[in-house]
Amino acid sequence: MAAPLRLLSRLTVVTGGGSGIGRAVCQRFAAEGASVVVADVNEDSANETLQSLPRDYRGQKHSVVGVEVSSKESVERMVTTIQRGYFQPPSVCVSAAGITRDEFLLKMEEGDFDRVVQVNLKGTFLLTQAVSRALVASGSPKGSIITVGSIVGKVGNIGQVNYSASKAGVEGLTRTAAKELSRFGIRCNCVLPGFITTPMTEKVPEKVINMITSMIPLGRLGQPAEVADACAFLASDDSRYITGVSIEVTGGLFIG
Ligand code: NAD
Repeated sequence: MAAPLRLLSRLTVVTGGGSGIGRAVCQRFAAEGASVVVADVNEDSANETLQSLPRDYRGQKHSVVGVEVSSKESVERMVTTIQRGYFQPPSVCVSAAGITRDEFLLKMEEGDFDRVVQVNLKGTFLLTQAVSRALVASGSPKGSIITVGSIVGKVGNIGQVNYSASKAGVEGLTRTAAKELSRFGIRCNCVLPGFITTPMTEKVPEKVINMITSMIPLGRLGQPAEVADACAFLASDDSRYITGVSIEVTGGLFIG
């Protein structure tokens, strides 16, 4: 089925664009006509994503920018680079960069707690702030900021006290940003993936994956493209009256 063309001539940036969900979002946005900036700390994998992007529409121009999302300086440099290259700020941004460092609460090292919060939560803050500042300064009439939380931010998950705390924080950040930025025409929404087949979940033992799968009403793990579908909806004008919400993309896991 061909993708609709809801993002023609929109400039978008996707952190974590070098892998998994971020890569699928880049591909979906490009298929819908957007220009895509693939942003990742791993520039090789970001370049692989770049090579995979369709360029079927006039004016469509994709690029790669290296970024360390936990560094304010790096994130600000990225936004400046984008503005220099495209003569405008991105009007859609997706914070898909994320990491796990799993351990039981009783054993977790402080450094592993801090690092996960720095990348997942502070990284989302820095990107949201830098992009929304640029949009407000440019007088752009609209923007869509999409953050990536996780269902485990709502329900918790054994071995992920750092990760689930960071993802719960992402939801709170998104709701607050939505309230503050609405008057500038900027919408902010969060997607909450359940268990999606990516390099991140490859680390989870098969026994645990089988147990989780048995709990998913739709009976299988999700695909990155299925999270990208929700992001494309949130990026597009089809969601123009939606802000401050979280959309669960979980196959029904933990409903109710
Ligand atoms: P992934 O490991 O496949 O991709 C993550 C990407 O983020 C990689 O390309 C990596 O290089 C990049 N990255 C990591 N740290 C970075 C940093 N400091 N600066 C810039 N880039 C950095 O993971 P994924 O499964 O595609 O996850 C994408 C997002 O979705 C993450 O935020 C993750 O927490 C979230 N999520 C994933 C699942 C899942 O089941 N896969 C479920 C819920 C939420």
